[in-house]
Amino acid sequence: MTAAIISGKEISAQIRSQMKDEVHQILLAGLGEKHFCPPGLAVIQVGQDPASSIYVNNKKKACDDVGIMSFGYELPADASQEDLIDLIDTLNKDTRVHGILCQLPLPSHMDEFAVVCAIDPKKDVDGFHPVNKGLLSIGRECLVSCTPLGCVALLKNQGISISGKHCVIIGRSNIVGKPLSQLMLAENATVTIAHSRTGNLPEICRQADILIAAIGKAGFVTKDFIKPGAIVIDVGINRCEDGKVRGDVDFLSVSEIAGAITPVPGGVGPMTITMLLQNTLHAYKAITGRQ
Ligand code: NAD
Repeated sequence: MTAAIISGKEISAQIRSQMKDEVHQILLAGLGEKHFCPPGLAVIQVGQDPASSIYVNNKKKACDDVGIMSFGYELPADASQEDLIDLIDTLNKDTRVHGILCQLPLPSHMDEFAVVCAIDPKKDVDGFHPVNKGLLSIGRECLVSCTPLGCVALLKNQGISISGKHCVIIGRSNIVGKPLSQLMLAENATVTIAHSRTGNLPEICRQADILIAAIGKAGFVTKDFIKPGAIVIDVGINRCEDGKVRGDVDFLSVSEIAGAITPVPGGVGPMTITMLLQNTLHAYKAITGRQ
């Protein structure tokens, strides 16, 4: 068997094109209104970590692509936590800004949790604020982390039904594994969360109709983990010594046995940024009451 490829690049392009039309309609409707503001995302970077700079630039480009305004803020690596929280406070009050993203990781002298908590939950387009985490856990409307949202959007857009399926997620992080388990539960999957202390990992994974790997170890999931015909979503982004980016799944061996699989790159990665745009649009609608 050769697995079907679930192209995050293609699905992402379709969603962005719909979003572009939607933003265009919003701009047309607002033309001539005195206090009209288009959707806007503020992106804060502290320090100049090269990987963060690439992510931040990609996010700004994606905003331009669909017509969302982006506002970039750069603070030096030795900025104080108070400086950063003052900036967030200003952006919380800025009516041009509907989403605030603070690129992580932050320099080690800053407390990430305190910084995330300073963001207005209504503008928390990363879905990291404890208010949004709590709302997600009780199944209420909220802003949800972008990567888990992207995984579910990939499955749905590929026409894969989730309800009643057994989904095994490897990884229990606050930004991927945990919120993803809650989204999959909300989609009526039966969910198992596996992690570094799980025994019999391949055996548990072989029970999965949908297997999602969010581990951070290149090629960790081999064909021994796969039930024939299973759907495999690879969240991992691992920069290897040869300069290539690889997923957590050994793509070649797993694609011989899986029913469908996401590639790395070109799978979950593009969906994450697309979901950031979608969250910004949701935040805009919730804050302004526009549709
Ligand atoms: P993390 O380090 O916070 O969590 C990793 C998880 O993997 C942990 O819960 C741990 O228990 C589990 N794990 C580690 N070793 C294991 C083992 N031997 N067996 C079973 N489980 C094991 O990482 P994260 O932030 O959740 O990210 C996971 C991966 O996803 C990384 O490669 C990261 O770069 C990638 N990622 C990709 C995107 C994207 O947009 N595609 C976004 C976020 C993270």
